[in-house]
Amino acid sequence: MPLHVTCATCHREESWDPRGSGYDRAVVVPGGSRRPAGDAAWTRVRTTLLAQADGRRPVADCPACGQLLFTRDAGPPSVAVRLDTPDGPVSVADGQVLGPTGPLSPEAALSLVDTHFAPRITDGLAGDLGRSVFFVGLLPIVIGWVFAGLFVLSFLAALYQGTPGGDTAGAPLIVR
Ligand SMILES: [Zn+2]
Repeated sequence: MPLHVTCATCHREESWDPRGSGYDRAVVVPGGSRRPAGDAAWTRVRTTLLAQADGRRPVADCPACGQLLFTRDAGPPSVAVRLDTPDGPVSVADGQVLGPTGPLSPEAALSLVDTHFAPRITDGLAGDLGRSVFFVGLLPIVIGWVFAGLFVLSFLAALYQGTPGGDTAGAPLIVR
C-alpha cells in the first residue's frame, strides 16, 4: 500500500511505494507554483506544528518548493525542524516540541514563533490580500498629499503672478 505524501505549501503530491529499506517515489501532482510567503524556516516549523494537530508529520523536503512533504502514514522517519527566534530555538522532532526553556505545547510554540515572524504573513493568499488592503488603505492619504501639494503650488503660482516685483496692487488672492 503506497504512502500518500503531500506538500503543505505548493500542493505537490507524491505516492511512496515501500521497496527494500526505502521508497519508490512517484509524482502525482508536481506542485511548485506556490512558495512560502514568509521566512522559510518559520514556515517549516509552522506547517509542522499545524500538520501535527491534523495527524500528519514531515517526512522529506519538497523538491518543488523546498518546504516539507507530509504524510499521515506510518513508515518513514520524521524530519526534524528548527527555528531560531530572539527568545531562543524552537524545534519539532518526532512530534516533540521544544522551546527555549524546555517542552512546549504546539499552541504555545506556534504563538512564540508567530510573535517574532508573523509580520511576514504565513499564507500566500493572505499575504497578497494583506498587502493589497494595505496599499488601498494608503491610497487616499497619497492622493490627499498630492492634492494638497497641487493646491499649495497653484496658490503660490497665483500669488507670484499677481505680485510682479513685489507690487501687491493686483494680487487677487490676498485678502486682509
Ligand atoms: Zn512544495
